[in-house]
Amino acid sequence: MKKLVFATNNMHKLGEIRSILEPHFSIVSLSELNCNDDIPETADTLEGNAFLKAKYIHDKFGLDCFADDTGLEIDALGGEPGVYSARYAGEEHDAQKNMIKVLDKLGDNLDRSARFRTVIALIINGETHYFEGKIDGRILHCPRGNAGFGYDPIFVPENYLVSFAQLSPDEKNKISHRALAVKNLVGYLQNLQSKTVLTAHNLK
Ligand code: IMP
Repeated sequence: MKKLVFATNNMHKLGEIRSILEPHFSIVSLSELNCNDDIPETADTLEGNAFLKAKYIHDKFGLDCFADDTGLEIDALGGEPGVYSARYAGEEHDAQKNMIKVLDKLGDNLDRSARFRTVIALIINGETHYFEGKIDGRILHCPRGNAGFGYDPIFVPENYLVSFAQLSPDEKNKISHRALAVKNLVGYLQNLQSKTVLTAHNLK
């Protein structure tokens, strides 16, 4: 079975991907590689950071690999916090402080349009491929709801009346930026898998 590293230690993301891609691919986490390295995320785009993480693991372990990076892009703030979403209000990665900074900067601005965007970089068979998922929405004037994480309490997805933090995890996972990016990745890998099976069959 083909081994594919998912450059993450987030067990939730890992479980989600494994349930879809196994048994065709054996998905390996960073902890299973005993990799506790502080992988550089120094690029100034989501694509750049996803690539840096995947490339680091690919170069170090010689394995095919994918990595993701996500940001909240707010139009009235010129796309901020974007690639800096995790550390918008400082290196402590404090979700509460990040949300307050966003709300302070937006003030009473009437333009509340924003989107979450996830980029996945996949390095496989010597090639790099990118997959994107995004969801449009708007930023509230104050947080609502307790579910989820990060900026969920201030983000209302398009065509909804409640914030991400007021949706159940299942509801959010059906429509989220990350789910859409993963769906695109999975479509590509399944196609690759069926081509490999077909080729093996034709060679018999
Ligand atoms: P990561 O690339 O998945 O680590 O995401 C970077 C940062 O974006 C996180 O630390 C959060 O602040 C924010 N973020 C990513 N995904 C979500 C989400 O689904 N809801 C709310 N915030 C998110």
